[in-house]
Formats: sequence, structure tokens, C-alpha cells
Amino acid sequence: MTERWRVTVDHDMCVHTGLCAATAPDALTLDGDGQGIPLADTVPPGQALRDAAEGCPVEAITITGADTGTQIFPPP
Ligand code: SF4
Repeated sequence: MTERWRVTVDHDMCVHTGLCAATAPDALTLDGDGQGIPLADTVPPGQALRDAAEGCPVEAITITGADTGTQIFPPP
């Protein structure tokens, strides 16, 4: 089975910079209030998404393995 990542954004932490959607537009977008939200429940793994999570100024983005539940970002 092809690996998938589950990405979540903590709505209470997000400060609406828009950086994540600009960095990983295949995985993240912005809602009507400018908050980062995942495009889908699971997305293909990718460096852009990892960069987006690392670049979030408030570390609101979490990535886990969709099948394994293993935490990928922030590093466990
Ligand atoms: S980079 Fe972080 S703070 Fe900025 S919109 Fe995305 S989740 Fe929110």
C-alpha cells in the first residue's frame, strides 16, 4: 500500500499567515478566514508539506502516518 500522511491544523493555534497553503498547495489550503486547512483527510507524502509544517510560525501543523499513526512532524 502506498504511504499516506494525515495532516491536521490546530485551529486554536493558527494565526492565519497563509504560509502553509503557499508552501504546500497540494496538501493545504485556506478557509474563508485565512486559516490553514488540509485539502483532504490524507495526502501523499511530500517535502513541501514537511516544509510547510516546519515553516508554520506557531507549529500548528501536525503530520502523522495515515496507516501507522506514527508522528512525523513535529519529530517525536
Ligand atoms: S502557516 Fe501556520 S499559522 Fe500560518 S495559516 Fe498555516 S497553520 Fe495557520
